[in-house]
Amino acid sequence: MSIVLDGKEIAAAVRREVAAEVEKFKAKRGRVPGLHVILAGEDPASSVYVRNKEKAALEAGIAGRVHRLPASVSEAELVALIKELNADPAVDGILVQLPLPKGIREQVVLDLVDPAKDVDGFHPVNAGLLASGRPGLVPCTPLGCMRLIDEASKRLGGFELAGARAVVVGRSNIVGKPVAQLLLARHATVTIAHSRTRDLPAVCREADVLVVAVGKAQMIDDRHVREGAVVIDVGINRIDVDGKSKLVGDVHYEKAATRAGAITPVPGGVGPMTIAFLLQNTLRAAEARGV
Ligand code: NDP
Repeated sequence: MSIVLDGKEIAAAVRREVAAEVEKFKAKRGRVPGLHVILAGEDPASSVYVRNKEKAALEAGIAGRVHRLPASVSEAELVALIKELNADPAVDGILVQLPLPKGIREQVVLDLVDPAKDVDGFHPVNAGLLASGRPGLVPCTPLGCMRLIDEASKRLGGFELAGARAVVVGRSNIVGKPVAQLLLARHATVTIAHSRTRDLPAVCREADVLVVAVGKAQMIDDRHVREGAVVIDVGINRIDVDGKSKLVGDVHYEKAATRAGAITPVPGGVGPMTIAFLLQNTLRAAEARGV
């Protein structure tokens, strides 16, 4: 029987930790950290994500503000707003909710965010700092994956990540690469697999820790999992089961769980961790700014 890593419960603990630190920050600095989210357009999924981020920020004592802009917003208007937020001393974190409306170049907009306020950790300066093993803002989902791996270690009797074999499936800039960097920083022996990897099941079976971020519903199953491995499923996919829409991961949970030592469910695994670490990043950004 594999251990189920309950992301909701673990994320709630992270959020409580952040709320307690926010209290201390407030007592020391006489202000609370401020998170500003830019939501352009009416993408329904993005609206839900942003509402959840706003609610979670307020619960942690962080001042949250959402800038809601119409889908017709121009790139120049977005650029002007980001410059304004970069210059505003009350703003600690800036998050641009993706996707942006058609016609707006994401890279141009994201690269303008002050790296010190880049709580998503997507700016090339922060990516470079992470790759160099220097302090910076690290993407939230990868931080959530690491916390889940640490929880798995505790519950499996404290296995050592240092020296362990880790396989990350997926090499995106927002998940795969930063997770691999964080695992490397913790001295795991890391392999990054992707769509060109030959014999993926054999590569994955090498893993003591398997992190999957491919965006393909239930692609990874028992054939990919070494007995006792920790399996972290980042994927969020909507599939149709008997005419009903169902949320599933990139891992076939039931099959993989027959071999995994510990595994994250979807929903309720990595997903809730992302918001928790967004709050933590906002606090860290505020602390580092010294204002
Ligand atoms: P991307 O589409 O940017 O990257 C997918 C990666 O998977 C690519 O590197 C791709 O390889 C690789 N890949 C695709 N097909 C295969 C295959 N058949 N075999 C091996 N590798 C493959 O996705 P993201 O990293 O942005 O997201 C991954 C998943 O995580 C998605 O389901 C997304 O919804 C979810 N997600 C969840 C979050 C959360 O909070 N829980 C946050 C962010 C993402 P190549 O580079 O060769 O094309």
